[in-house]
Amino acid sequence: EPSVTGGLRTILEWAGKAKKLGVRANADTPEAAKLARSFGAQGIGLCRTERMFNAADRIGLFVEMIMAGSAAERKGILDKLGRLQRSDFAKILRVMEGYPVTIRLLDPPLHEFLPNPEELAGRLREMKPGPEERRARTVLDRARELAETNPMMGHRGVRVGITYPEIYEMQIRAVFEAAAGLAAKGVDARPQIMVPQVGSLSELGAVRDIYDRIRAEMEKKHSRKLKINFGTMIEVVRAALTAAELAGPAEFFSFGTNDLTQATFSFSREDAEGKFLPEYMEKGLLDTSPFQSIDEDGVGRLMKMGAADGRGRRPGLEVGICGEHGGDPSSVRFCHGMGLSYVSASPHRIPIATVAAAQATIAGRAGARGR
Ligand code: PEP
Ligand code: MG
Repeated sequence: EPSVTGGLRTILEWAGKAKKLGVRANADTPEAAKLARSFGAQGIGLCRTERMFNAADRIGLFVEMIMAGSAAERKGILDKLGRLQRSDFAKILRVMEGYPVTIRLLDPPLHEFLPNPEELAGRLREMKPGPEERRARTVLDRARELAETNPMMGHRGVRVGITYPEIYEMQIRAVFEAAAGLAAKGVDARPQIMVPQVGSLSELGAVRDIYDRIRAEMEKKHSRKLKINFGTMIEVVRAALTAAELAGPAEFFSFGTNDLTQATFSFSREDAEGKFLPEYMEKGLLDTSPFQSIDEDGVGRLMKMGAADGRGRRPGLEVGICGEHGGDPSSVRFCHGMGLSYVSASPHRIPIATVAAAQATIAGRAGARGR
């Protein structure tokens, strides 16, 4: 068990009491969740389920499932993946007993999972005609069908949930089954379900319909109420612009400032910091990378607008942030100032976020006295 001792422990205890903002962790394994708890995380603000598919025992299953040509072929594979997910979720929920755990539905970078069509074509050229070659040809056709020129702006997040609803259905069911299983054992599990890459009410509504159907089915099956909140990431510009509508089906928001920064600047989050951004900073065009600290004139304005519109529609709406900015002190200050409910950061940044949140609270009080 990791544990925090000495001076850091004293500081974190003080900061934990002083701060107003909640501090949660971005974690997708029980180990990361334990580490986050040891630093005082008050929940998991982002559990990226696509990372769970990267594990050695399931990457093959996942690729097979996506490469399958029809929902019927995917069914058997999804049943297996569903059992694995249920146990993944149960393990994390146990570690975080009594605290919220936001499980984000799959946001797969399909291009990282799928076989490369050029490689496949090369291998195919070496093959003799026959059943194996015919099979390889089918795989190549499917890989070509799925390949994209611009995958980061392509078939990902909720778009995959719309085109392959059975995947989201499997994950939502796994969350409910894990929660019901733990509740029956007296464990206080508090999962919430979050949809990534949402840009319109119709996308969110389609997933909400699946959630409502499965919830009814699960409550009947387990003969108990299962309170699992449903919410959305705000990481597409259009989501920030239509936040009032999204707060209809969404019971909480979480700003995904990594993608929101990419979209707001049209800077690639993969490349910008390694290419031109250092020169921008050297030449004084930018003080810091917008991927490190919230750009208050861009993403910051979208956040304020989205939070206000969402809360206007649904008073008391829980609004957090789970982009990397959640662990950056100046961004934490900004989040405190705009009245977010919590920030969520990688486990090793929990101490910094906690101290920054405490400092923001104290500076705010001192400022109020000075007026
Ligand atoms: C984000 O976009 O800010 C986010 C948290 O999601 P991811 O980093 O997984 O794209
Ligand atoms: Mg994102």
